[in-house]
Amino acid sequence: MRLPGRHRAALALWVLLTALGGAALARLQLAHLQDLFETDARIAHRLLSQRVVQHEAVLATVALLQPPAGAEAAEQRLPALYPQILSVQRRERDAQWNDALLAAAEARSRVAGRPALADVDFARGRYRVVLAAAPASFAATFDLQKVVPWNEWPMDPPTSPVRVTLEHGGQQFLLQPGAERAGLWSLSFHKHLAAESQPFDLVARRAVGWADLPWRWIALWALAMAAGVAAWHWLRAQRAERRRAEELLRLGQVARLNTLGELAAGMAHELNQPLAALLANTQAARRLLQDEPPELETARGAMRQAEEQARRAADVLGRLRRGVERPPTGAALQPVVLSRAVRNALYLLEPEFARRQVAPRLETGEQEIAVKAEPVALEQIIHNLLTNALQALEQVPPAERSLSVRVEQESGQGALTVGDSGPGIAPEVLPRIFEPFFTTREHGLGLGLSLCESLAAGMGGRLGVQARSPRGAAFTLRLPLASA
Ligand code: ADP
Repeated sequence: MRLPGRHRAALALWVLLTALGGAALARLQLAHLQDLFETDARIAHRLLSQRVVQHEAVLATVALLQPPAGAEAAEQRLPALYPQILSVQRRERDAQWNDALLAAAEARSRVAGRPALADVDFARGRYRVVLAAAPASFAATFDLQKVVPWNEWPMDPPTSPVRVTLEHGGQQFLLQPGAERAGLWSLSFHKHLAAESQPFDLVARRAVGWADLPWRWIALWALAMAAGVAAWHWLRAQRAERRRAEELLRLGQVARLNTLGELAAGMAHELNQPLAALLANTQAARRLLQDEPPELETARGAMRQAEEQARRAADVLGRLRRGVERPPTGAALQPVVLSRAVRNALYLLEPEFARRQVAPRLETGEQEIAVKAEPVALEQIIHNLLTNALQALEQVPPAERSLSVRVEQESGQGALTVGDSGPGIAPEVLPRIFEPFFTTREHGLGLGLSLCESLAAGMGGRLGVQARSPRGAAFTLRLPLASA
């Protein structure tokens, strides 16, 4: 289906507004999701940092207090207080660690003067930290899953789309799986925890996909734009309709003024005086003849004058008729592009064509043809020819209606032909068709074509008619080229 140009423009405007608004809404949503993501990741990082710092503090306290060794050693109660501590081991002054990793970590701890990481087993979710002290040194094993304070955790691990891991030396411990989906954008956060003894990185990632875009708002926006564009389109159509109606009214007024109005006003003005004189003379003659004896000589004179006035009235009528046939064109001639004048007339009559199911065809060459014309007169001729063709087409079934306007250059003149597939013009009628007051229509005035012919002649042109085969009539207006 091909849409008319103005519908296409409205559709394009709607698509553009929807795309622009949709992009802006998507950007807003993205910024919002990024904000949420960063806030959550920062809270997670702070919580874990607090925990690892706390671990260092617990070890330091035990080392400082140096609780007496034995079956009931105080540090063995730590796992009950801190669920993330799985076990605590100690090395007495003269004893050895039974684990080389713990011994190495203790040596590092002694040099650094703070707890040191012994080993990390992310596969089992645990790691060990050693604090060197005297007389006894201490080591603690932590459970990573319980290191996280889940009750304060900012996200809901089973449903949150954010994937969170702790990373160290190429190992990864998954805290929260997040949603695995191909994303349009990906958000990420990477930060070291705040304790040297537990040098883990907190890594958070989130994929933002099509499904995360604010489709409901975008749809609402698209609907609102559709309503707005439709209203704008409707208003524009209304305005064009109004302008068309005004133009038609103006054309109608010009036509009436040119024909009936001019004729009537001219007749009234020119005939008034001879008719008044005729009346006065005949009244005088009647009185003179009633006199006793009748004044024959004077009455004869009055009758002669009456005769003269009657002849003058006839002259006036003749002149008026010639005037109708060849009215002088008052306005100056100027170059007018024929196809543009035709398009304008076709546009004005668009509703009439639609009502009668007629699709007019305009045939123009490559080159624009400009003629010397008086724009209003030309407009009126084209309008009249099109209206006549439409009236003729009303007499044939809709399927057989065709109307074409051809613009061409012909022996140094611009020619415009309006052809229709109506019933055509009977041969006996053809010679009289341009006569004033000749009509075959019930309510016709018979002035349209005679006026058109006069207007054409006034511009130095000619209006002709031919029969069209197999049926119909074709009227051709020829006007001098503007370049001539
Ligand atoms: P009116 O339209 O008032 O009759 P016109 O001068 O426009 O006056 O037309 C005069 C006559 O010419 C019409 O009554 C009609 O018989 C005939 N005529 C004009 N145009 C056509 C046409 N396209 N096809 C057939 N007959 C036409």
